[in-house]
Amino acid sequence: MPSLQLDVVTAERVVYSDAVDSVVAPGTLGELGILPGHAALVTTLQPGELRVRKGTDEIDLAISGGFLEVRHDRVLILADTAERAEEIDIERAQAAQERALRLIQERRERADLIQAEAALRRSRVRLKVARRRREGMAPS
Ligand code: ATP
Repeated sequence: MPSLQLDVVTAERVVYSDAVDSVVAPGTLGELGILPGHAALVTTLQPGELRVRKGTDEIDLAISGGFLEVRHDRVLILADTAERAEEIDIERAQAAQERALRLIQERRERADLIQAEAALRRSRVRLKVARRRREGMAPS
């Protein structure tokens, strides 16, 4: 069966590397679905979820932006930061969210506000990805 080679890397580490069936990525211009045979493409990513399907498994990652390249059934993601769902520390993301909200409420200078808003987006994506996994694992 045709497949895609997916590599998700950051400046620090290889976060994910495997042959997969499909990838849905948070493109800056909207969600981007990639299947084998996809045309060559280079695009930027925004903070969001990266959903990977491999057989019956769905692997979710939180990414905070970066670049994506598709070429010859290889998907390369150079992410600013990326975590697999099971790696996400929920308490840390919650603390980051609260800190960002506090900074936004304090109405500081514009540069601080932009940073706080970016931190808020990162924390929200992490919480969403981590909580979905936790809910998926809960006994029915
Ligand atoms: P914090 O304020 O908690 O550091 P942040 O959004 O400022 O959050 P980043 O600068 O985006 O953090 O990431 C720094 C490093 O920490 C990256 O390697 C990232 O993957 C990791 N990281 C950040 N938050 C979490 C988390 N909640 N769980 C696991 N790893 C995290």
